[in-house]
Amino acid sequence: MEEERADKENHIEEGHTGIPLYDPVELAKKLQKIVLRASQRKYYRLARAGRWYGGIATADCCGCNLRCVFCWSGKPRDNPDKVGTFYESQQVARALVTCARKHRYQLVRISGNEPTLGRDHLLQVIRAVERAGLAFMLETNGTLIDLSLAKALSSFAKVHVRVSLKGTDAEEFSRLTGARPEGFSLQLSALENLLVAGVSCHPAVVTSFSSSDNLRQLKKTLQTIHPELVPNLEEETIILYPHVARRLKQAGLYPREAYRP
Ligand code: SF4
Repeated sequence: MEEERADKENHIEEGHTGIPLYDPVELAKKLQKIVLRASQRKYYRLARAGRWYGGIATADCCGCNLRCVFCWSGKPRDNPDKVGTFYESQQVARALVTCARKHRYQLVRISGNEPTLGRDHLLQVIRAVERAGLAFMLETNGTLIDLSLAKALSSFAKVHVRVSLKGTDAEEFSRLTGARPEGFSLQLSALENLLVAGVSCHPAVVTSFSSSDNLRQLKKTLQTIHPELVPNLEEETIILYPHVARRLKQAGLYPREAYRP
């Protein structure tokens, strides 16, 4: 009883697994102390070639402020203090440009975890790759894209932002990420901020756990933000890597649809 009262006073709520819910913005602040050092950011891989988007050079960073149950990232997400190397933005940009040129790609990205945790570092990488004539695909969970970051992104000519919604509504977001349900509105705000700032963007959503009613409701919500978001909504299906299957089982979550790796 005493414990319950203390949790209420500290605004700690429990998710469906009985684990306390977290605030993604507060978690981001903690992680920034681990994965950022002055203008450097921690990465666990620089840079790989990939077939996504018809060919893209990718650098994989450490640290994410969400804890999606279906996430394929392991240690770099959960123990970013124990893995990875710090790199300057220019080193990252150089590795991306070299990889892109070698494979004749026009597109690069930072993936693996959440690129917007290191805002200044990210903007410096984008500036450098744009100077080299390449386009940047910003894949993000969107929870840290406020209007000021959206405006900074609008200064680039070749940036497209893919905001990956974690579920179709606040309740599903919380169930899939273990975060407070309010975090879902941060994802929707990211889309609003990007559109206000005139940044090219589209939403994606993991639908493996969603009912068709929920998906319909999400489309209505997106329609109220901007009609163009609905036809551009990308529906994602999770990939059942062995560690993902283990996490889902522990959380008692069973996807309606999933790919085998
Ligand atoms: S937002 Fe992406 S990187 Fe972060 S936990 Fe979710 S799936 Fe993993």
